Amino acid sequence: MIYQRSSELFVETQNYIPGGVNSPVRAFKSVGGTPIFVKEAKGAYLYDEDGRKYIDYINSWGPMLLGHAFQPVVDAVIEKTKKGTSFGTPTEIETEIAKLAVSMVPNIDKIRFVNSGTEACMSAVRLARGFTGREKIIKFRGCYHGHSDSFLIAAGSGLSTFGVPSSPGVTKGTAQDTLLADFNNIDSVKALFEANKNEIACIIIEPVAGNMGCVPPVNNFLQELRELCDANGALLIFDEVMTGFRLAKGGAQELFGIKADIVCFGKVIGGGLPVGAFAARNEIMDYLAPVGPVYQAGTLSGNPLAMAAGLAMLQAINNDVELFNRLEEKTAYLEKGMRDVLTKNNIDFTINRVGSMISVFFDNREIYDFKTAGYGDTQRFKDFFHGLLKEGIYIAPSSYETWFITDALSYEDLDFTIAKVDKITSEF
Ligand code: PMP
Repeated sequence: MIYQRSSELFVETQNYIPGGVNSPVRAFKSVGGTPIFVKEAKGAYLYDEDGRKYIDYINSWGPMLLGHAFQPVVDAVIEKTKKGTSFGTPTEIETEIAKLAVSMVPNIDKIRFVNSGTEACMSAVRLARGFTGREKIIKFRGCYHGHSDSFLIAAGSGLSTFGVPSSPGVTKGTAQDTLLADFNNIDSVKALFEANKNEIACIIIEPVAGNMGCVPPVNNFLQELRELCDANGALLIFDEVMTGFRLAKGGAQELFGIKADIVCFGKVIGGGLPVGAFAARNEIMDYLAPVGPVYQAGTLSGNPLAMAAGLAMLQAINNDVELFNRLEEKTAYLEKGMRDVLTKNNIDFTINRVGSMISVFFDNREIYDFKTAGYGDTQRFKDFFHGLLKEGIYIAPSSYETWFITDALSYEDLDFTIAKVDKITSEF
C-alpha cells in the first residue's frame, strides 16, 4: 500500500490524540483516506513517512510563501535558539519586526504580536468593542476567523466540511452578539445596521475569503462596507491572516485600496512559527493595556524564535521587488493551464483566484458566497484530490479550502501539475 507508514502512524496516534490530529482539517475527513504524515519539506516539496515526494499546494495553509525550510528563516531561528528561547521580557527584535511591519502595511501605526490567527482576531474584536463601547459584531457566512467562541457561527472551511453550522460549547449569549451577513451582499449588511442601531462595534471580514474556497469581493463590496462602517460609527476589521503579506506587501488593503480600522495577521507573518498580530492606528491601539483599558496578554507573545522567523520572512518579502509579480504570473499560469485541460475534458468547473490564492470548484456557476461555494460536486472533488495525491501533488483536502501558491514552485512543477490534472479529469 502506498501510504503504509502513514496509515500505521494514523492508527496509533488516534489512541492518544482526538482523531489523530491537532487541527481537524488535517484528518482528511471530507475526502476520506489516510492523511499523509510529513517527515520533512524543502522548497516546494513535501516528503512523507513512506518516502514519497509531493508538490505542495497547501504550504502549511499559507505561511510558506517562499517555500519550506527557507534558508534565511532557518538560519535566523538557529542563531536565536542558541541565545535562549524565551525570557518574558521585552526584546529588541520585537521592535525591529514591528517597525518593519508598520512600514509595509498601510494605515497602521502600531502592532501587537500574539501566537495565532485566532488570538489576533479574538483580540481585535475585543479591542473594537472596548473602543466603541458596543457589543455586537457582524461576520459573514463562510468566513473563518479562528476558533474563538464568537466566530464559530457559520464559520466556513473545517466546520463547513463537517457540516456543523456552529459548535457545541458556544453559549447562546455569545452567539447572539454575532450577527451574520452574506459575503458580497451589501443589503444583508445594511439590514443588520438598521435593525441594530448604535449597537454594532465592528464588521470582521476576510477581504478575500479563503475559507469557503477562494471567494473574491465583487461589485465594490469592500468599499461599501467601509462606507457603512463610517456612517454607523462601527470599525472595519480586515482579517488578513491569509491575505496579509501574500496578496501584496501591504495585503488586501493595498491591493484594493481600502482602509481598514484594525488588521489581523497570521500565517506568513511568522514564517512558519506560531505568530499572529493585530494592528491599527494609534488612537485605537492605545486602548490596549498597559496604555489603555482593554486587556490582552501572552506569556509567549513576541517569543524571540518566532520573531526571528517572522523578521527574516518579512525582510525577504520587503526586499524582493519582483516577488508579487512572480507569484501572480505563476498562479495565473497554473490557472490558465487547468482551465484549458478542464475545458478540453468537458468538465463543469469554476476557478476563483486572487493573486496566489486559487481554488477549483466542480460546478460551472459563479461562486461568490457561502451558499454558492457549496455547489461543487463533492464526489468529483474527492476523486480529483486522491488522483492528484497518488501522482505526488498535495492540494487542500476540501473544496472549501484555498490552495496557497509558493514562489518556490518552478514552471516544471506547474507543467507537471497541469498534465496530471489533465490525466485525472480525462478519466472522469
Ligand atoms: N483567520 C483566517 C482568515 C484564517 O484562515 C485562519 C486560519 N486558517 C484564522 C483566522 C485562524 O488562525 P489560526 O489557525 O492561526 O488560529
